[in-house]
Amino acid sequence: MNVPVLTYHSLTVQGSDYRDNDHVAFASDLRTITSLGYRVVSLDRVVRWHGDAILGLEPPGAGGTVAVSFDDGTDFDYHDLPHPTFGMQRSMLNLMRDFVAEAGPDAQPDLHGTSFVIASGEARSTLDRTCIVGKNWMRDSWWGAAVATGLLGVGNHSWTHNHPSLPVALRAAGGQGGSFRDVASFDVAEAEIATAAKAIRSLADGPDATLFAYPYGDASDYLVHEYFPKHGARIGVRAAFTCGATPVTERTSRWSMPRYVFGHDWRSPEDLVSLLHDAAG
Ligand SMILES: [Zn+2]
Repeated sequence: MNVPVLTYHSLTVQGSDYRDNDHVAFASDLRTITSLGYRVVSLDRVVRWHGDAILGLEPPGAGGTVAVSFDDGTDFDYHDLPHPTFGMQRSMLNLMRDFVAEAGPDAQPDLHGTSFVIASGEARSTLDRTCIVGKNWMRDSWWGAAVATGLLGVGNHSWTHNHPSLPVALRAAGGQGGSFRDVASFDVAEAEIATAAKAIRSLADGPDATLFAYPYGDASDYLVHEYFPKHGARIGVRAAFTCGATPVTERTSRWSMPRYVFGHDWRSPEDLVSLLHDAAG
Protein backbone atom coordinates (compact mmCIF):
# COMPACT_ATOMS: atom_id res chain seq x y z
CA MET A 1 0.00 0.00 0.00
CA ASN A 2 1.50 3.30 -1.17
CA VAL A 3 -1.02 6.12 -1.15
CA PRO A 4 0.07 9.67 -1.96
CA VAL A 5 -2.03 12.35 -0.27
CA LEU A 6 -2.14 15.56 -2.32
CA THR A 7 -2.68 18.90 -0.56
CA TYR A 8 -3.83 22.23 -1.97
CA HIS A 9 -4.41 25.67 -0.43
CA SER A 10 -7.47 27.26 -2.02
CA LEU A 11 -6.28 30.67 -0.78
CA THR A 12 -3.26 30.46 -3.07
CA VAL A 13 -4.35 32.44 -6.11
CA GLN A 14 -1.44 34.43 -7.54
CA GLY A 15 -2.45 34.24 -11.18
CA SER A 16 -4.66 32.20 -13.48
CA ASP A 17 -2.21 29.51 -14.58
CA TYR A 18 -1.53 26.06 -13.21
CA ARG A 19 1.68 27.01 -11.43
CA ASP A 20 0.28 29.99 -9.54
CA ASN A 21 -3.33 29.01 -8.86
CA ASP A 22 -4.25 26.00 -6.70
CA HIS A 23 -7.78 25.89 -8.20
CA VAL A 24 -6.46 25.62 -11.76
CA ALA A 25 -3.94 23.01 -10.63
CA PHE A 26 -6.52 20.91 -8.78
CA ALA A 27 -8.91 20.90 -11.76
CA SER A 28 -6.11 19.80 -14.07
CA ASP A 29 -4.73 17.24 -11.61
CA LEU A 30 -8.10 15.50 -11.25
CA ARG A 31 -8.01 14.83 -15.00
CA THR A 32 -4.36 13.69 -14.93
CA ILE A 33 -4.97 11.38 -11.97
CA THR A 34 -7.99 9.87 -13.72
CA SER A 35 -6.24 9.45 -17.07
CA LEU A 36 -3.46 7.52 -15.31
CA GLY A 37 -6.06 5.14 -13.87
CA TYR A 38 -5.73 6.27 -10.26
CA ARG A 39 -8.73 6.28 -7.95
CA VAL A 40 -9.34 9.20 -5.59
CA VAL A 41 -10.62 8.10 -2.19
CA SER A 42 -11.33 9.94 1.06
CA LEU A 43 -8.63 10.46 3.67
CA ASP A 44 -10.90 8.60 6.03
CA ARG A 45 -10.67 5.57 3.77
CA VAL A 46 -6.87 5.85 3.66
CA VAL A 47 -6.76 5.84 7.47
CA ARG A 48 -9.00 2.74 7.58
CA TRP A 49 -6.82 0.97 4.99
CA HIS A 50 -3.74 1.87 6.96
CA GLY A 51 -5.27 0.30 10.07
CA ASP A 52 -6.11 -2.85 8.11
CA ALA A 53 -2.56 -3.04 6.74
CA ILE A 54 -1.14 -2.82 10.27
CA LEU A 55 -3.34 -5.78 11.18
CA GLY A 56 -1.92 -7.65 8.19
CA LEU A 57 -5.13 -7.41 6.15
CA GLU A 58 -4.92 -6.77 2.44
CA PRO A 59 -6.18 -3.24 1.75
CA PRO A 60 -8.79 -3.25 -1.03
CA GLY A 61 -7.78 -1.48 -4.22
CA ALA A 62 -4.18 -0.97 -3.09
CA GLY A 63 -2.04 0.68 -5.72
CA GLY A 64 -3.31 3.38 -8.01
CA THR A 65 -5.00 5.21 -5.15
CA VAL A 66 -4.61 8.85 -4.09
CA ALA A 67 -6.36 11.09 -1.55
CA VAL A 68 -6.83 14.84 -1.54
CA SER A 69 -6.86 17.47 1.20
CA PHE A 70 -7.24 21.24 1.37
CA ASP A 71 -5.60 23.26 4.13
CA ASP A 72 -6.72 26.30 6.15
CA GLY A 73 -10.45 26.05 5.44
CA THR A 74 -11.05 29.36 3.72
CA ASP A 75 -14.43 29.85 2.03
CA PHE A 76 -12.64 29.26 -1.31
CA ASP A 77 -12.92 25.53 -0.50
CA TYR A 78 -16.72 25.67 -0.63
CA HIS A 79 -17.92 28.91 -2.26
CA ASP A 80 -17.06 30.38 -5.66
CA LEU A 81 -15.57 33.78 -4.78
CA PRO A 82 -14.37 36.89 -6.62
CA HIS A 83 -10.62 37.25 -6.11
CA PRO A 84 -9.87 41.01 -6.06
CA THR A 85 -7.14 40.69 -8.72
CA PHE A 86 -7.76 37.45 -10.61
CA GLY A 87 -11.56 37.35 -10.74
CA MET A 88 -14.05 34.61 -9.97
CA GLN A 89 -12.53 31.43 -8.54
CA ARG A 90 -14.40 28.15 -8.73
CA SER A 91 -14.40 26.48 -5.30
CA MET A 92 -12.60 23.19 -4.72
CA LEU A 93 -16.00 21.57 -4.08
CA ASN A 94 -17.45 22.92 -7.32
CA LEU A 95 -14.35 21.82 -9.25
CA MET A 96 -15.13 18.28 -8.07
CA ARG A 97 -18.76 18.72 -9.14
CA ASP A 98 -17.60 20.04 -12.55
CA PHE A 99 -15.38 17.00 -12.93
CA VAL A 100 -18.28 14.63 -12.15
CA ALA A 101 -20.53 16.50 -14.63
CA GLU A 102 -17.88 16.26 -17.32
CA ALA A 103 -16.43 12.80 -16.78
CA GLY A 104 -19.53 11.10 -15.35
CA PRO A 105 -20.12 9.63 -11.89
CA ASP A 106 -18.22 6.43 -12.69
CA ALA A 107 -14.93 8.14 -13.58
CA GLN A 108 -14.14 8.68 -9.87
CA PRO A 109 -16.89 6.95 -7.89
CA ASP A 110 -15.20 7.66 -4.53
CA LEU A 111 -14.19 11.25 -5.28
CA HIS A 112 -13.66 13.17 -2.04
CA GLY A 113 -11.45 15.85 -0.48
CA THR A 114 -10.94 16.88 3.15
CA SER A 115 -10.88 20.50 4.15
CA PHE A 116 -8.76 21.13 7.27
CA VAL A 117 -10.26 24.11 9.08
CA ILE A 118 -9.16 26.43 11.89
CA ALA A 119 -11.64 26.10 14.74
CA SER A 120 -11.46 29.38 16.65
CA GLY A 121 -13.86 31.97 15.24
CA GLU A 122 -11.76 34.75 16.78
CA ALA A 123 -8.62 33.41 15.07
CA ARG A 124 -10.45 33.09 11.75
CA SER A 125 -11.88 36.60 11.81
CA THR A 126 -8.40 37.99 12.58
CA LEU A 127 -6.75 35.87 9.86
CA ASP A 128 -9.47 36.99 7.45
CA ARG A 129 -8.11 40.52 7.87
CA THR A 130 -4.39 39.75 8.12
CA CYS A 131 -4.11 37.03 5.46
CA ILE A 132 -7.08 37.59 3.15
CA VAL A 133 -8.90 40.82 2.26
CA GLY A 134 -11.27 41.30 5.20
CA LYS A 135 -14.44 40.12 3.46
CA ASN A 136 -15.36 37.43 6.00
CA TRP A 137 -14.05 34.54 3.90
CA MET A 138 -13.20 32.19 6.78
CA ARG A 139 -16.68 31.26 7.92
CA ASP A 140 -17.86 28.05 9.58
CA SER A 141 -21.36 28.28 8.10
CA TRP A 142 -20.53 25.85 5.27
CA TRP A 143 -18.82 23.11 7.26
CA GLY A 144 -21.90 20.97 7.89
CA ALA A 145 -23.23 21.49 4.37
CA ALA A 146 -19.84 20.51 2.93
CA VAL A 147 -19.97 17.14 4.66
CA ALA A 148 -23.57 16.63 3.49
CA THR A 149 -22.44 16.89 -0.16
CA GLY A 150 -20.51 13.64 0.23
CA LEU A 151 -17.61 15.22 -1.66
CA LEU A 152 -15.98 17.39 0.99
CA GLY A 153 -15.05 16.34 4.52
CA VAL A 154 -14.04 18.69 7.34
CA GLY A 155 -10.96 17.97 9.45
CA ASN A 156 -9.19 19.73 12.32
CA HIS A 157 -6.34 22.15 11.53
CA SER A 158 -6.07 23.24 15.20
CA TRP A 159 -7.63 26.01 17.25
CA THR A 160 -5.49 28.91 15.96
CA HIS A 161 -2.88 27.40 13.57
CA ASN A 162 -0.49 29.02 16.08
CA HIS A 163 -0.42 31.64 13.36
CA PRO A 164 2.27 34.32 13.85
CA SER A 165 -0.15 37.11 12.88
CA LEU A 166 -2.44 36.30 15.83
CA PRO A 167 -1.98 37.84 19.30
CA VAL A 168 0.07 35.63 21.62
CA ALA A 169 -2.82 35.58 24.10
CA LEU A 170 -4.95 33.70 21.58
CA ARG A 171 -2.31 31.10 20.75
CA ALA A 172 -1.85 28.45 23.44
CA ALA A 173 1.54 27.54 21.97
CA GLY A 174 2.70 31.14 22.50
CA GLY A 175 6.21 32.12 21.45
CA GLN A 176 6.95 33.45 18.00
CA GLY A 177 4.14 31.42 16.51
CA GLY A 178 4.25 29.40 13.37
CA SER A 179 4.34 25.67 13.54
CA PHE A 180 3.57 22.98 16.13
CA ARG A 181 7.19 21.79 16.09
CA ASP A 182 7.75 22.92 19.67
CA VAL A 183 4.46 21.77 21.20
CA ALA A 184 5.62 19.71 24.16
CA SER A 185 2.93 20.02 26.82
CA PHE A 186 -0.44 18.44 27.51
CA ASP A 187 -2.09 21.81 28.19
CA VAL A 188 -1.07 23.29 24.85
CA ALA A 189 -2.09 20.12 22.99
CA GLU A 190 -5.49 20.16 24.70
CA ALA A 191 -6.03 23.86 23.95
CA GLU A 192 -5.01 23.66 20.30
CA ILE A 193 -6.22 20.16 19.31
CA ALA A 194 -8.84 18.74 21.69
CA THR A 195 -10.64 22.09 22.07
CA ALA A 196 -10.66 22.52 18.29
CA ALA A 197 -12.15 19.06 17.71
CA LYS A 198 -14.86 19.77 20.28
CA ALA A 199 -15.69 23.19 18.81
CA ILE A 200 -15.99 21.87 15.26
CA ARG A 201 -18.32 19.10 16.46
CA SER A 202 -20.42 21.47 18.54
CA LEU A 203 -21.72 23.34 15.49
CA ALA A 204 -25.22 22.54 14.34
CA ASP A 205 -24.73 19.55 11.98
CA GLY A 206 -21.08 19.72 13.08
CA PRO A 207 -18.60 17.57 11.17
CA ASP A 208 -16.99 14.75 13.17
CA ALA A 209 -13.46 16.13 12.62
CA THR A 210 -11.69 12.85 13.41
CA LEU A 211 -8.61 13.72 11.33
CA PHE A 212 -6.02 16.35 12.26
CA ALA A 213 -3.51 18.20 10.06
CA TYR A 214 -0.53 19.85 11.76
CA PRO A 215 -0.23 23.55 10.83
CA TYR A 216 2.57 23.84 8.24
CA GLY A 217 2.85 20.07 8.48
CA ASP A 218 5.15 20.39 11.49
CA ALA A 219 4.64 17.75 14.17
CA SER A 220 6.47 17.55 17.50
CA ASP A 221 7.88 14.41 19.12
CA TYR A 222 5.54 14.93 22.06
CA LEU A 223 2.42 14.98 19.87
CA VAL A 224 3.45 12.03 17.68
CA HIS A 225 4.85 9.76 20.39
CA GLU A 226 2.94 10.73 23.55
CA TYR A 227 -0.11 12.93 23.23
CA PHE A 228 -1.90 11.32 20.28
CA PRO A 229 -1.12 7.66 21.15
CA LYS A 230 -2.38 8.30 24.71
CA HIS A 231 -5.25 10.73 24.11
CA GLY A 232 -6.30 10.29 20.46
CA ALA A 233 -9.17 7.94 21.27
CA ARG A 234 -10.47 10.15 24.10
CA ILE A 235 -10.53 13.30 21.97
CA GLY A 236 -11.89 11.44 18.93
CA VAL A 237 -8.90 11.98 16.63
CA ARG A 238 -7.91 8.91 14.60
CA ALA A 239 -4.93 10.15 12.58
CA ALA A 240 -2.72 13.21 12.11
CA PHE A 241 -1.17 14.48 8.87
CA THR A 242 2.15 16.19 8.25
CA CYS A 243 3.91 17.09 4.98
CA GLY A 244 7.09 15.27 3.94
CA ALA A 245 6.42 14.34 0.31
CA THR A 246 6.23 10.58 0.71
CA PRO A 247 3.24 8.28 0.31
CA VAL A 248 1.30 6.73 3.20
CA THR A 249 2.40 3.11 3.60
CA GLU A 250 1.78 0.43 6.22
CA ARG A 251 5.00 1.58 7.89
CA THR A 252 3.66 5.12 8.37
CA SER A 253 2.84 6.22 11.92
CA ARG A 254 -0.85 7.01 12.26
CA TRP A 255 0.15 10.23 14.04
CA SER A 256 2.53 11.41 11.32
CA MET A 257 0.95 10.62 7.97
CA PRO A 258 2.81 12.40 5.15
CA ARG A 259 1.33 14.50 2.38
CA TYR A 260 2.57 16.21 -0.79
CA VAL A 261 1.92 19.97 -1.03
CA PHE A 262 1.15 21.66 -4.33
CA GLY A 263 3.59 24.47 -5.15
CA HIS A 264 6.22 22.84 -2.98
CA ASP A 265 6.35 19.16 -3.94
CA TRP A 266 5.01 19.52 -7.50
CA ARG A 267 4.46 22.51 -9.77
CA SER A 268 3.30 21.10 -13.12
CA PRO A 269 1.21 18.25 -14.52
CA GLU A 270 4.49 16.59 -15.53
CA ASP A 271 5.75 16.84 -11.95
CA LEU A 272 2.56 15.16 -10.79
CA VAL A 273 3.03 12.25 -13.17
CA SER A 274 6.60 11.76 -11.86
CA LEU A 275 5.42 12.12 -8.27
CA LEU A 276 2.79 9.40 -8.72
CA HIS A 277 5.26 7.16 -10.51
CA ASP A 278 7.88 7.58 -7.77
CA ALA A 279 5.32 7.14 -4.99
CA ALA A 280 4.24 3.80 -6.45
CA GLY A 281 7.79 2.58 -5.62
ZN1 LIG B 1 -2.29 25.57 7.32
